[in-house]
Amino acid sequence: MKISDKLKNCQKPFCSLEFFPPREREQWPAFYQIVERLAEVNPKFVSITYGAGGSTQDNTLDVARHLHSELGLETLVHLTCVKSNKEKIDAFLNSLKEAGIENILALRGDPPRGEAYDWSSSEFTYASDLVRYVRSRHPGFDVGVAAYPYPHPESKSFQADRKFTQQKIQAGANFVITQLMFDVREYFDLVERLNSLGIMTPIIPGVLPVLSMESLRRTLSMCGANMPGKLFFQLEEAHNQGGAEAVREAGTHFAIEQCRQLLEWGAPGIHLYTLNRAETCLRIVNELRSMGLLPA
Ligand SMILES: Cc1cc2nc3c(=O)[nH]c(=O)nc-3n(C[C@H](O)[C@H](O)[C@H](O)COP(=O)(O)OP(=O)(O)OC[C@H]3O[C@@H](n4cnc5c(N)ncnc54)[C@H](O)[C@@H]3O)c2cc1C
Repeated sequence: MKISDKLKNCQKPFCSLEFFPPREREQWPAFYQIVERLAEVNPKFVSITYGAGGSTQDNTLDVARHLHSELGLETLVHLTCVKSNKEKIDAFLNSLKEAGIENILALRGDPPRGEAYDWSSSEFTYASDLVRYVRSRHPGFDVGVAAYPYPHPESKSFQADRKFTQQKIQAGANFVITQLMFDVREYFDLVERLNSLGIMTPIIPGVLPVLSMESLRRTLSMCGANMPGKLFFQLEEAHNQGGAEAVREAGTHFAIEQCRQLLEWGAPGIHLYTLNRAETCLRIVNELRSMGLLPA
């Protein structure tokens, strides 16, 4: 089923979950067990990422097929422009279609680290090019796009970033998932700004629970999200006083509080970046259920 149709029929806030395909196939059975455990939270959909430079494209496809066909989960497959062309996109989308998958997240992607990349030689330069292409050549797919509460690191200004996001949605996106953010006001600012530009498409906020200082450093260096200094000092203090366990606890509490604010203040749902871990996400969803913010 198309995600936009699921969202149209959805009266209550929901959660959705993002996973990445483990690189080694030997790790897949354990990974599928984690997904099965998380299926308990009744996600509206699950999304599966696409490796930088399309490096794990086959893994993305195989894992997506399993989640969709074997585990019965509505599956959203990420797809990027990097090192791609129309022929490769057609082949990938035809495979998804054969598997009965109807939802993609159209992204520009980033070139693999340290690799010089000439976008001018690419058939798709921006995510909006991919959205337009899928809309015209593969109209059977629902198309989501990314948006950035704290603007994308390459953008010149907040306003320019919102404008390009508007253009990307107007190219034919059915829904939007945001980059993670640590200040929920950035999400509401994005929504207000896009609404004022006439965009009423569902915008689902992405939430990443901080599980360790190392993963936080890695995430911040990769995605360019903004972290309030106060939160960083809280996590640092937790680390100095109680080590890794205290950081996980503080990070989980913070994520629950963020989700509470997002849902109470009107977000349609929560997209949890699971990092392929079950426990923390189960805890977050159960807390939100006990507050009556997510359906049991
Ligand atoms: C929810 C989510 C999921 C993601 N999943 C993946 C994944 O699976 N695999 C992966 O490799 N990466 C993933 N990413 C990361 C993403 O690929 C990068 O953030 C990438 O740098 C930008 O992708 P985009 O689709 O937002 O690009 P775009 O929307 O194309 O924007 C890229 C930059 O160009 C600017 N821009 C856009 N249009 C124009 C224009 N017409 N003229 C000038 N400038 C313009 C934008 O402001 C921005 O600075 C994900 C990000 C998010 C938020």
